[in-house]
Amino acid sequence: MADADEQSRLESLKAAIERHNHLYYVEARPEISDREYDRLYDELKRLEAVHPEWVTPDSPTQRVGGQPLKQFASVRHLKPMMSLDNTYSFDELREFDARVRKLLPGENVRYVLEPKVDGCSISVRYEQGRMTLGATRGDGATGDDITANLRTIRSLPLRLTAGMGRVPEFLEVRGEAYMPVDGFRALNEQRALAGEEVFANPRNATAGSLKQLDSRIVAKRPLAVVFYAVGVAEGVTFESQEAVLRGLRNLGLPTPANWWLCGDMEDVIRRSEELRGLEASLAYEIDGAVVKVNNLGQWQKLGMTAKAPRFAIAYKYSHEQAQTVLRSITVQVGRTGVLTPVAELEPVALAGSTVSRATLHNEEEIRRKDIREGDTVVIEKAGEVIPAVVSVVQSRRQSHTRPFDLAGHVHGKCPACGGPIHRDPEFVAWRCDNIACPAQLRRSVEHFAGRQGMDIEGLGEVLVTQLVHRGLVHDVADLYSLTVEQVSALDRMGEKSASNVITAIAESRKQDLWRLIHSLGIPHVGEGAARKLSENFETLDLLAAAGAEELQRIPDIGPVMAAQVVDFFANGRNQQVIAKLKAAGVNLRRLEDLQVVSVGPFAGKTVVVTGTLSRYSRDQIHEILRQKGAKVTDSVSKKTHCLIAGTEAGSKLEKARKLGVAVLDEDQLDQWLSEGA
Ligand code: AMP
Ligand code: ZN
Repeated sequence: MADADEQSRLESLKAAIERHNHLYYVEARPEISDREYDRLYDELKRLEAVHPEWVTPDSPTQRVGGQPLKQFASVRHLKPMMSLDNTYSFDELREFDARVRKLLPGENVRYVLEPKVDGCSISVRYEQGRMTLGATRGDGATGDDITANLRTIRSLPLRLTAGMGRVPEFLEVRGEAYMPVDGFRALNEQRALAGEEVFANPRNATAGSLKQLDSRIVAKRPLAVVFYAVGVAEGVTFESQEAVLRGLRNLGLPTPANWWLCGDMEDVIRRSEELRGLEASLAYEIDGAVVKVNNLGQWQKLGMTAKAPRFAIAYKYSHEQAQTVLRSITVQVGRTGVLTPVAELEPVALAGSTVSRATLHNEEEIRRKDIREGDTVVIEKAGEVIPAVVSVVQSRRQSHTRPFDLAGHVHGKCPACGGPIHRDPEFVAWRCDNIACPAQLRRSVEHFAGRQGMDIEGLGEVLVTQLVHRGLVHDVADLYSLTVEQVSALDRMGEKSASNVITAIAESRKQDLWRLIHSLGIPHVGEGAARKLSENFETLDLLAAAGAEELQRIPDIGPVMAAQVVDFFANGRNQQVIAKLKAAGVNLRRLEDLQVVSVGPFAGKTVVVTGTLSRYSRDQIHEILRQKGAKVTDSVSKKTHCLIAGTEAGSKLEKARKLGVAVLDEDQLDQWLSEGA
C-alpha cells in the first residue's frame, strides 16, 4: 500500500473505532461484534507499529498510557468550577424560584432538571475536536491534570463528532466521572478476593481511581463519564441549558439519559419525584437533582455569589435509600411462630450506619416484588425502623436466579425445631405449629426483656438462648425464679455478671404497666399501643377483662388490635403465664402518673436525636427526654426546637443547620440534662 493509502486507512480505522466505542459505551447499541472490533483495533495497532510517526494522542490505541507519572501537573481552569447551593425541601426550591423571579421581573423563567450525579467533577478540553486536556475540579480555580487517566475511560470520546454542524474550534466541557454501580460491585468483589481493601461507595472508588498516577491501573477500573455543562466554547454558542445538553450529545459526548425541561417550579418538583423513582435504575448513583434556569441569557443577569451560581441549585435527597446485593435469604422464627424471611445483604452505608440485614416481611411480599437471592436490591430506612428491601434492580438480575419459595427453602420444616409448618391464610405467613418451639420461646423472652419491654439489662440473645436450651426457662415468668447459681453455671457467665442479671430481673418487677403490656408480645400491640392501653386501664386485670367494643372506643385501637387483645387474654396458656407473673410479684398496676414536667430546658420542647451517642442508647435517651417533658420526634422540621447530634450524624444535622434549629452535642446534652429538672 502506498503511504497515502495507508494513512487514509489509518484515519478511517481511528474514526471507525471511536464510533464503535461510542455506540458500545455511550449508546449501548453496538453494531459490530467484539471480534470485529478487535480486528479493527489490531489492524490499527499494526499500522501504527510500522509508522510510529503517525501515532497521535487521540488514537484509540493510546487510551492506556505508558509510564506512571511522578505527580500531577496543575491546571488553571479557564473559568472557575463552582459548587452549587444545596436545598433539601420543596419549600426551599420554591424560595429559590421566588429569588430568581425577583431578579428577572416580568420574564418567563423555565428550568431544566437533571440528575445530580454522585461522582467526581471533571473538566475536559477539546481543541479542533481533539481531546487535549482533562482535569479535576480541585479547589475550583486549579485542579490536577488527569488527562492520561481520563483518556482510559471508553465512554469519553477522544474526538468529537461533527453531529449536525461543525466541530467547535475550542470546547471545554464539564461533568462527572463515575463508576457504574455494577462495575463498582464487581471491582469490590475482585478486591475482596485478592485481600485488598474495598471501596466504601462508587464515588470513593472513582476518586481513588482518578488519583492513580499509573493510568494502566485506571484503565482496569470500570469508569464512565457524563457531561452537563460548557465552561468555555469557541465556534459554537448555546442559548439554553437544553441546547447545551442536546449540543453535547450531538458532538458525541455522553449526557444524562434523564432530564426535563420544566415550565415552572411546581413542574420541577413533580419531575424531581419522577427522577427519584428512577434512582434505582440509573447507571450512576445520584444524590439528588440539579435545577438550572434554562435560558443562558438569564444566567448572565442572575450572576454568581462568591461560591455558587444564582441560576442553579441542587436539591439533595436525604440519603435513606441504598443499593446493594442480596447475598441470601434466611428464615427466622418469630415469637408468634411466624417464619420471617430476612435479607442477608452485602454491607452498605445507609443513613449514617452500615446495614447488612433487612426485612423482607413475608413470602407474598417477596413474590410480589420478585426478590431473589443474588439480586441487586434497593433498601430503604424510614425513620428509625429496621431497613426493608423495597425493590429489585431488574436490569442487574443474573441469569441463574430462581423465584423464592419459602417452604422449599426450609424443606417444609421449621428451621428452628424441625417441626411441621403450615400456611396461615389470614396472615399470608408460614408458621411453626410447635408451641414448644425453642425459637419462639427465645424470641418472646428476648422481647420481654427488651428495652421497650421490661428492660432487663444483661439479658441478651446469648444468655436467653442458653436459658431456653438448658430448659431453665419455659415461659417468661420462669425468669423470676432463676438463681445466681443456675445462671453462673452457663457459658461466659461469671458469678458477678450472673448476680447482676438476677438483680436486674428482680428489679424489673417494679416496671410500669405499659412495659408489661408491651413485653407480653400481644400480636399487633407495639410500644405506642401498649402506652395507650395502660392509659385507659389501671391494671392488667382490668385490661384482661375488657371486651372488644370497649377497647375499640380508645382512639388508635382498631378492630384488629382489639380482637387480638381479647384473644390473647382468653388463651389458657397466656392466663397461666400471667398468673405466674402475678405470683412472682410483678407489678400489674399503672404507676403514679408522672408529673407533667413544666420546668427545665426540655419541658415542652420538640426534640430529635440523630447519630450515635456514647453514653446512651437511642431508647434510653428518648425515655430520659420524655421524662424531662420533651416531645421526641423522628424528623427535623421548622417545629423542631433542638437536635441532639451524636457522632456520624448525617442529613438530619445538615437539615437542622439549614433551618437554624439548635444543635446539641453529647456534652452539651449532659449539661442541659443536669440543669434544673
Ligand atoms: P456540591 O459539590 O455539593 O457543591 O455540588 C456541586 C457539584 O455537583 C458540581 O461541582 C458537580 O460536580 C456536581 N454535579 C453533579 N451533577 C451535576 C449536574 N447535573 N449539574 C451540575 N453539577 C452537577
Ligand atoms: Zn419451630
